[in-house]
Amino acid sequence: MNQNENLDQALEQIDLEKNLNRIKYKILVLSGKGGVGKSTVSANLALSLALNGNKVGLLDVDFHGPSIPRLMGLEGRQVDMKNDKLVPVNFSENLKVLSLGMLVQSRDAVIWRGPMKMGAIKQMLKDVEWGDLDYLIFDSPPGTGDEPLSVVQLVKNATGAVVVTTPQALSTSDVRRSIQFCEKLNLPVLGVIENMSGFVCPSCGATHDIFKTGGGESMSREMNVAFLGKIPIEPQIVQASDEGKPYVYHYGKSETAQSFLSIVEQLVEKIKGAKT
Ligand code: ADP
Repeated sequence: MNQNENLDQALEQIDLEKNLNRIKYKILVLSGKGGVGKSTVSANLALSLALNGNKVGLLDVDFHGPSIPRLMGLEGRQVDMKNDKLVPVNFSENLKVLSLGMLVQSRDAVIWRGPMKMGAIKQMLKDVEWGDLDYLIFDSPPGTGDEPLSVVQLVKNATGAVVVTTPQALSTSDVRRSIQFCEKLNLPVLGVIENMSGFVCPSCGATHDIFKTGGGESMSREMNVAFLGKIPIEPQIVQASDEGKPYVYHYGKSETAQSFLSIVEQLVEKIKGAKT
């Protein structure tokens, strides 16, 4: 790399940090692998914080299928440009959303090569007009490979990570790696959420532990990280997500939405406790 390239990179990093410094708390949502509900948790976390009166941004940098536009009912929404910056889409007065899926309008699979991914992540951190926010929630790429690594390395002063798992051992063993990944990168683990934990049968009322239960909780204890709570398997979540009706927003009174809210309460307590 020559001197000019070095200078360009340093200037880019300064711009990026300037932009992110206007955000009080930056939370990365991670998972050991795909399909455990990371995007669902990211969206409902952002919504719950916004419903509590905070100014929130939700940034979807999951290359494997950016699902936030669909989950939030924002499919097909275009991102505007203002003064050379991307303007996130307003979901509500308190919640702004930007997803890779909004920047790549084609429904065809996009073949992202390494440097393109890095460039796209950088642009979504540096060239977005978030304004002043209380929280920015990152729906990060799953796993512990180059993609989440780029996100963690670029968001230098992140508040911490929330790790999503399902209860069975196959998933919790991947999550152990996610926690070690955070430790190696000096990213505080704010806590673990166990998703798809038990199913309450609507007919008989009995709880069935389809993917077992408690795996995330015992793993958290063992690894000495906070456990933030469990979310059950909830058929309404699937239906609501498919219909683009964000769950806690439309079904706020349900027991599962209350679980989300209590997780958020714990998370906020943990963040504010760590700050003082
Ligand atoms: P990831 O981001 O980890 O790949 P998603 O959030 O896209 O996972 O969720 C994968 C699928 O599982 C989606 O269809 C979503 O609606 C569903 N899902 C997520 N959490 C739950 C839950 N608690 N109960 C039922 N379905 C869920």
